[in-house]
Amino acid sequence: MKIAVLIKQTPDTAELPKVSAEEVKSGDVNATMVINPWDEYAAEEALLLDDRFGAGSVALSMGSEDATDALKHALAMGIGEAVLIDSSALGDADMWTTAAALAAAVKEQGDVELVLTGKQSVDGNSGALFAGVACKLGWSLLTNVAKIVDMGDGFITVERMVDGGQETVQAPLPAVVSVAKEINDPRYPSFMGIRKANRANIPVLTAADLGVSDVSATEWANIRKPEQVETEVVIIEGDSVAEKAAKLADAIMAEKVI
Ligand SMILES: Cc1cc2nc3c(=O)[nH]c(=O)nc-3n(C[C@H](O)[C@H](O)[C@H](O)COP(=O)(O)OP(=O)(O)OC[C@H]3O[C@@H](n4cnc5c(N)ncnc54)[C@H](O)[C@@H]3O)c2cc1C
Repeated sequence: MKIAVLIKQTPDTAELPKVSAEEVKSGDVNATMVINPWDEYAAEEALLLDDRFGAGSVALSMGSEDATDALKHALAMGIGEAVLIDSSALGDADMWTTAAALAAAVKEQGDVELVLTGKQSVDGNSGALFAGVACKLGWSLLTNVAKIVDMGDGFITVERMVDGGQETVQAPLPAVVSVAKEINDPRYPSFMGIRKANRANIPVLTAADLGVSDVSATEWANIRKPEQVETEVVIIEGDSVAEKAAKLADAIMAEKVI
């Protein structure tokens, strides 16, 4: 049994505020690119499941050649293999095209029973790609998973984070699972791991190899930063707490906050 981990390369979160909308739209982002932080939890879980169930692991990323750096991070953590899905023939791939390519790449890996993903990418932020991949594969989908309780006899049992609690769910394998940050503490790549990853030859699958084409129908018509909200600071003066509180209440009502 093999576990596929979906890894996206994203801008370093420290540099995200400096990334312009134009850069995002063109895909030519002028920032340090790193492994999507949420995907480190998925990679860590694949390694822990390998210890528990003897499952091999493969990291898959769709993107440009640069995305091999994110794959190398996963290899340096200990993931067994990595494959790049070359997005160059897929235009401005929307969610459906991206899901189709990644699902086809999963099928190429042989006996994959489990696909692990992060909870969302820090740039696209949809938190939805895993649903498209599960749909394309026709596999079970479990989201926001905080613990993988067991796997075996054709089933996976997990604990999901839900509003105000947790639930235990069992679903048939194969499955696609998106993980929550509560699931583990991702390890740092070891020095030996980094050296091994740097020497790794990462195979590339093209859209033609996978038999997928750009079927994108969703277009980014506009990407912009949120409107700046003008704020004003007012210091309420008064001789006593009661006087300040009364003035504050008047001000709040005058502004129609309550
Ligand atoms: C140059 C460029 C142009 C684009 N143009 C458009 C457009 O015109 N219209 C449009 O709708 N979308 C467009 N996209 C966005 C693209 O469709 C999304 O990046 C993709 O669908 C994933 O969505 P997300 O980043 O919100 O991931 P999420 O759904 O937030 O990611 C969830 C998880 O899925 C996995 N994942 C996500 N992306 C990848 C990946 N590439 N490889 C491996 N694993 C992954 C990770 O594990 C991640 O944690 C464009 C992207 C690029 C780079």
